Amino acid sequence: MTRTSDASAERPLIDGAGGGDATSGQRRLTSADLAISTAHQAALRSIARVVDETAEPQDAGRAAAGLADQLRGGRVLVITGAGVSTDSGIPDYRGPNGSLKRHRPMTYQEFRHDPAARHRYWARSFIGWRHMGQAGPNRGHELLAEFERRGWISGIVTQNVDGLHAAAGSQRVIPLHGDLSVVRCLNCGNTEARPHLDARLAEANPGYVERIDLDPEAVNPDGDVTLAQHHVDAFVMVGCLVCSSVELKPDVVYFGENVPAERKREVAALEADSSSLLVVGSSLAVMSGYKIVLDAVRAGQPVGIINGGPSRADAKATWRWRTRVTPALEDLFARLA
Ligand SMILES: [Zn+2]
Repeated sequence: MTRTSDASAERPLIDGAGGGDATSGQRRLTSADLAISTAHQAALRSIARVVDETAEPQDAGRAAAGLADQLRGGRVLVITGAGVSTDSGIPDYRGPNGSLKRHRPMTYQEFRHDPAARHRYWARSFIGWRHMGQAGPNRGHELLAEFERRGWISGIVTQNVDGLHAAAGSQRVIPLHGDLSVVRCLNCGNTEARPHLDARLAEANPGYVERIDLDPEAVNPDGDVTLAQHHVDAFVMVGCLVCSSVELKPDVVYFGENVPAERKREVAALEADSSSLLVVGSSLAVMSGYKIVLDAVRAGQPVGIINGGPSRADAKATWRWRTRVTPALEDLFARLA
């Protein structure tokens, strides 16, 4: 077992409440600890952000006609969020039945500095990945791939980490927050395909999956599930293939972590090839996605939104269609095809 039985000594780093008295006694916070704590607290605020109504509702028929015109113009950059994948059975964080109400995702700081939290993640994710692994593209993903083939859209920036746009045949896709199918070692940087790691985990944990009676509702958008502590304790983690470190992390951008610079450059290149922006299935609560709207507005480009609830960009949008994503894309396809 690689699990650290008592992670409480790590808690002051994370909670940053001003001392380790309750746990490790004499330990004093260093400036590095405080930086970690500050970043963690900022990540928690980002997770907890609630997107309120900021604009008057728009007539659905008018919005749909406007969005169809936008697509007719071509070179539309599409940014997608969880609302595109809910029809594939992957739950949303912030939707009406959003998993944030039950479960808060880990921050990067916890992943990096709290071994017990990381161990819990891998135990839960070992189960949850089996659920994500079964998810396939839905009609919404297929339609967006078709929009690209017809030259209506220039490409997709997705905030989802499920790989479903590529699976549906979209060619130019930038996974802004990475992809769950790759795992990276935080110690040496080695990467491993998730199915490969999963096979090693399965070998180290015979019978583990069968012992767990999983409620599908307990699966979270990042492929995580809610798991009883005794199951977490029984899970055996495996190490990096190169350096044996158990500091392995899905190659996705966590709350409290930045989008890699190279990916930002890819987004900038796609923006340069686009003349308008369409937000699909996202409240844009996270800044890295919202920034793309701000870029489009700054460039004087029209912004369209198709989303089931309020989005942070509503007040900046030319067209806002408050509706379910897949039927809306189907409707737009029918208007243009
Ligand atoms: Zn390594």
